[in-house]
Amino acid sequence: MDLTITQEGVFFADPVWDALARDPDGALWEVWGGCPSGRPVYAAELQPDRQQTAMESLSCAGCKRPASRSKLGMLWVLPVLDYGEVTVWEGVRTVIPPMCEDCANEAKRRCPRLRKGWVELRVREAELIGVRGTLYPRPGSGEEPDSAALVLYGSADLPFVVGRGLVRELTNVTLVATGATVS
Ligand SMILES: [Zn+2]
Repeated sequence: MDLTITQEGVFFADPVWDALARDPDGALWEVWGGCPSGRPVYAAELQPDRQQTAMESLSCAGCKRPASRSKLGMLWVLPVLDYGEVTVWEGVRTVIPPMCEDCANEAKRRCPRLRKGWVELRVREAELIGVRGTLYPRPGSGEEPDSAALVLYGSADLPFVVGRGLVRELTNVTLVATGATVS
């Protein structure tokens, strides 16, 4: 897919693709070919359209059913690896959608991304704050694209990002359990 970058932002050269790949906030999304893999929980990354749907509707990352809710909030299982030295989970930002209990248990047993450790959280608030994706430099700036940028809603960078994932900020977080997948 050819990209065009102007002072206005980044566009797919084909206007039809561009319209299809743009969300209501005006951000452009990566278009991946092919079918979703059978067991997306174990994939390194969810397909962008699937991630977007699950994250937007707070449905389970694994099976698309509603994510588990309890008095303490919604269920999130996150790999410790992604967050380096984070020990405080309050306010953590993630592209991983919540999960139902069945998928969370399955993921904790089998997901290779959780092998180095996972945390199980209950989360009362999870505001959509922005888009994770590739940020393209303004024309003439001479900078390289940043493939792991987090661009917040309202940022002047939003027209220059091609998204891979919606990002939520988790607040009112209760740490329920920690562990590591046994390989
Ligand atoms: Zn599920």
